[in-house]
Amino acid sequence: MVNMNRRQFFKVTGASLASSSMVLLGAAPTPAMAEVRQYKLTRMTETRNTCPYCSVACGVLLYSRGDGGKNAVASVVHIEGDSDHPVNRGTLCPKGAGLVDFIHSPNRLHFPEYRAPGSDKWQRISWDDAFKRIARLMKDDRDANFETTASDGSTVNRWLTTGMLAASASSNEVGYVTHKVIRSFGMLGFDNQARV
Ligand code: SF4
Repeated sequence: MVNMNRRQFFKVTGASLASSSMVLLGAAPTPAMAEVRQYKLTRMTETRNTCPYCSVACGVLLYSRGDGGKNAVASVVHIEGDSDHPVNRGTLCPKGAGLVDFIHSPNRLHFPEYRAPGSDKWQRISWDDAFKRIARLMKDDRDANFETTASDGSTVNRWLTTGMLAASASSNEVGYVTHKVIRSFGMLGFDNQARV
């Protein structure tokens, strides 16, 4: 018979009870430790994209929670380099590797804003209003300044008073289509930040 006082008795029986309860609940350490660790990106939605920061235009993979179901709120939780991308082959510089913070930054602009001439304030407008305004201003400027012939009489069909800068996140295909659309207006001032 082991000699123990009242305090020691409660300590021993309490510990035994706790460990047997854990086993009953399926939390036995041996099978838990033997289980293969789940891949952290299992059941995520994978989306391919291009890093928006610089003209290198590295390919990225965005992983988001949410399967597109009606009540599922999608949220990007992880970004890594796309190993199949010919530009970066899976690598990212520190800026690209920190992209997930840029996505969730409270300072990020989520909607178009407009500042009226002479005003010191920006006001939020809808995408429809923004597109209509851009289209209106482009049309008016093109109608007023489009040149069909140069001073020597040669045909030029050019529009020199408006320019276009496409985003660095544009892929090769988007850059090609954007180029075709802009050139079809006769606009010559055009650049695409990404050299892809
Ligand atoms: S990951 Fe770095 S090098 Fe690549 S496009 Fe982004 S900013 Fe440029």
